[in-house]
Amino acid sequence: MKLSNVYIHTCKEISSEVEKISERNLIKAGMIKKVSGAYAYLPLGYKILNRIQRMVKKILNEDGFQEILFLGNKDSFFKKVKKDMKKDKVFFYQVEQVIPSRENKRGSILIKGEVFYKNLKDMKKDFLLIEDLCVKVLKKCGVNGEKIKDIHNQEEIISSIIGVSSKEGKENIVTCSCGYKATQRYAPCTEESLEDEEELCMEKVYTPNVKTIDQLINFFGITSKKLIKCLLLKNQKNFIAAFVRGDRELNLAKLERALGFSYRELAFLNEEEVEKLTHAKAGFAGPIGLKNTIIVVDHEVTCLKNAVAGANETDFHIKNINYKRDFNADYILDIRNIEKEDSCIDCGKRISVYPYMDMGRIQKEKDKICFSLDITAILSTVASIYYDEDGLRWPISLSPYPVMISILNMNDQDQIDFANKIYEKLNKENIEVLLDDRNEKVGVKFKDAQLLGMPIQIIVGRKVKDNIVEYKIRGKEDKKELTYNELFFQIQKDLGIFM
Ligand SMILES: [Zn+2]
Repeated sequence: MKLSNVYIHTCKEISSEVEKISERNLIKAGMIKKVSGAYAYLPLGYKILNRIQRMVKKILNEDGFQEILFLGNKDSFFKKVKKDMKKDKVFFYQVEQVIPSRENKRGSILIKGEVFYKNLKDMKKDFLLIEDLCVKVLKKCGVNGEKIKDIHNQEEIISSIIGVSSKEGKENIVTCSCGYKATQRYAPCTEESLEDEEELCMEKVYTPNVKTIDQLINFFGITSKKLIKCLLLKNQKNFIAAFVRGDRELNLAKLERALGFSYRELAFLNEEEVEKLTHAKAGFAGPIGLKNTIIVVDHEVTCLKNAVAGANETDFHIKNINYKRDFNADYILDIRNIEKEDSCIDCGKRISVYPYMDMGRIQKEKDKICFSLDITAILSTVASIYYDEDGLRWPISLSPYPVMISILNMNDQDQIDFANKIYEKLNKENIEVLLDDRNEKVGVKFKDAQLLGMPIQIIVGRKVKDNIVEYKIRGKEDKKELTYNELFFQIQKDLGIFM
């Protein structure tokens, strides 16, 4: 491809509003562009997306998956497939586009796969094989993906994530030195044991304007571990009061799943609704005397002795509350967020928590396994790993063009001819090559070659009269001067191919 024909707009300076490294690198290289809040993948960026897609498809095809395109409601098609199945299982995949939304501003291109089973006996084994397949795909792209348990218990995994640890990630992963890896969203907490303390008499205490955890700690002279935090929620039908220890966060996803609700079905009550339900101003809700509400208590709360909670009366709290003696729950569940320093469910050692980027998901359903790989997330991750202060540094396997040739002086016909000769030879050998034949200053051409980050860079300058060009690998300091014949030998060597 000749750069004079490519729509490209590199930029050296970029607004500080763009925080993500991957986004900064791709915008600087003119591979994506942000236009009034939406993103365009420009020709070079789109080419890499296609390259990643090709690589994923190749691996899936080798593993017996078949690509389909169904533009209607897939469920109706899959019902038909299930009815007509002759074999024990069928593998399909399809490329799908996710339209940008508030949560996913850039939108995505996903490769979504489905495996249907007539006989379910292989499902457990296949789930692990598909996890490995996704990790293999990422590895081919130069990314070290990890298998992270999502919805699971000690016996079974229902869903898992293929993720990459990254500061740009929005979700957290929980890890342990024993090898346990799980999403913070669904990682189960270990059960605590009952506090060893004598139960004291319950007492109502006047606490004017004392509402927040910090205010309560000061007022009662206790730690947040002695407080019972109340969170009031609702769905279409029910009010739910969830109770966790004062130092803990409620995990909404775990609560919803445990109660059999769908994800994001529950919403927090506003102040007005809180007042109506508890007959008290917000900040004074507690487990005693709540009516018409499903009471859900985190397991840890049942282990507390002589705790403090709201009295469901404005400006009052109750101290020395003990579970069972003073209140009961409709459900005792694991509904708190697991945090660093908590214990691992598998071995009991301390866990660590850090952010990850989600590259793919695998999910077990009644008679099928579904999975998806996010091609756009793979591109972002690669762009957040392979770069230096000068710009991107594509690995050869993903680079839109493994070779880039820059002509330094477009007024020198010898340079143009020499560069074209290399360009045509490489094209003939099916090596994709980008030729910078723009009428730009030398400085601009050098800078753009760095920003674009193609692995092999050939600079055609004044020395063509001696049959010599400059050759360098992006990111490495040393340059070589090579003759026309030496050049192809070197390219073969660096690309690991024979011409
Ligand atoms: Zn462990």
